[in-house]
Amino acid sequence: MDICVSGNEIIPNITTHQELKETSFLSVLARQIPYPDFNQSPRNMYSCQMAKQTMGTASHTLRYRSDNKMYSIITPQSPLVRTTAYDHYQFDKYPLGTNAVVAVISYTGYDMEDAMIINKASMERGFQAGVIHKTEVIDLREVAGLRTNSQEVGLIFSSKDIDPKYSEMFDADGLPFIGRKVCQDDPVCSYIDLTKNETKYHKYKSSEPAFIYDVKVLGNGTDKEIQRVAITYLIRRDPIIGDKFANRHGQKGICSFLWPQENMPFTENGIIPDILFNPHGFPSRMTIGQMIETLAGKSGAMHGLVHDSTPFTFSEDNVASDYYGKLLEGCGFNYYGTERLYSGVDGRRLEAKIFIGIVYYIRLRHMVGDKYQVRSTGPIDQITHQPVKGRKRAGGIRFGEMERDSLLAHGTTFLLQDRLFNNSDKTLVHMCKKCGSIISPYLSKLKDNSENQVEFWTCKTCDSPENIVKVAIPFVLQYLVSELASVNIKVKFSAS
Ligand SMILES: [Zn+2]
Repeated sequence: MDICVSGNEIIPNITTHQELKETSFLSVLARQIPYPDFNQSPRNMYSCQMAKQTMGTASHTLRYRSDNKMYSIITPQSPLVRTTAYDHYQFDKYPLGTNAVVAVISYTGYDMEDAMIINKASMERGFQAGVIHKTEVIDLREVAGLRTNSQEVGLIFSSKDIDPKYSEMFDADGLPFIGRKVCQDDPVCSYIDLTKNETKYHKYKSSEPAFIYDVKVLGNGTDKEIQRVAITYLIRRDPIIGDKFANRHGQKGICSFLWPQENMPFTENGIIPDILFNPHGFPSRMTIGQMIETLAGKSGAMHGLVHDSTPFTFSEDNVASDYYGKLLEGCGFNYYGTERLYSGVDGRRLEAKIFIGIVYYIRLRHMVGDKYQVRSTGPIDQITHQPVKGRKRAGGIRFGEMERDSLLAHGTTFLLQDRLFNNSDKTLVHMCKKCGSIISPYLSKLKDNSENQVEFWTCKTCDSPENIVKVAIPFVLQYLVSELASVNIKVKFSAS
């Protein structure tokens, strides 16, 4: 069996099979990458990974759906540079990004290491604006804590006897009006406890304001009263500092600053970039495909064309950069895609020519709003008295052994003590200096001459209060000593 790729490779009487296309070996996602044959292969693989994390157009029937969480972008565009597979799979019906004017420039320090500066005015005009559709199911059977279907629920949705301050919030059925804004702890719906004749409210828990997008009544049609509803919230997610973006070449970036438009560099034509991309992102990653896309996007925008970026269409005899370079020259631009830029801060011309063009950028669903974690003081673990972990519980971020080693290496001992002791499980305990025990001292009471109760600490084993001192130790140490005592192991502390 002999397989060839293109027709001119056929050897008569030997070749038995031919590939349908040069791109047949690529997956659906890989076939969306523009000029992948110009990229280093790991970048194409990263691109495929990131394509699964986009905040695109997941569905056109969101109005009728009740997904737990659905991300979508609300100002998508059709890419100016795309492959034939993009059209074949009709991706324009499910667009996921925008054609951004990208300048490859190191401007201020805010674009170091995969950070990128976004034009604030672009953001305000709707650049990469997104929303989340989140659905919450409220089941009165669950609220009442019932397991079996036969039991009477005793709760019904109703706005009867509601607090007058909530009167604008509910319809007669106790369910919210569509389009209403809800903030943290606002009541979403009201229901009546028939046994106690009390009106109760289900509250909106998230700290992020939302709008009531849809209310669906769930049931089998035989229930007398509504007992189960699905409420869909619409949450706005404009791009903010810390949100993640990527282009189709595996080049991801975190927005580090929403730069005021008037302080952004601008071209002779007055074009102000949407994104500033740091040039250090190119040498080690070698995403030449992105450079070609920049040229193609720019020439496509000028000539009113959509360029085909299917792999293996250019060759050594038909060079991509030359093709697009000539198109750029044809509309008065530099062959190499570079332009003179002017500082937005002082208006002076930048000395270096800047590579600028249009690249299709995609918003990824990782947003700081869902990830940031802060804690001053808060909940602690019942056993260890150390801060709990977990963002939801207002817990801390683990300061592990590698972090400890780092502080040790830096000699920052006070910071080390602050993290691992003062802000963790510092406890004051009583210790007997004579027997070296922290579990033998106990609080004793005596009556003095005037019959007043006097409390003092004394050692149970030495039977004397003379050697008792107060020491600060981590609570887990006391816990360890107690646990060891439970298996008959004595722990003795000495001063030296
Ligand atoms: Zn003692």
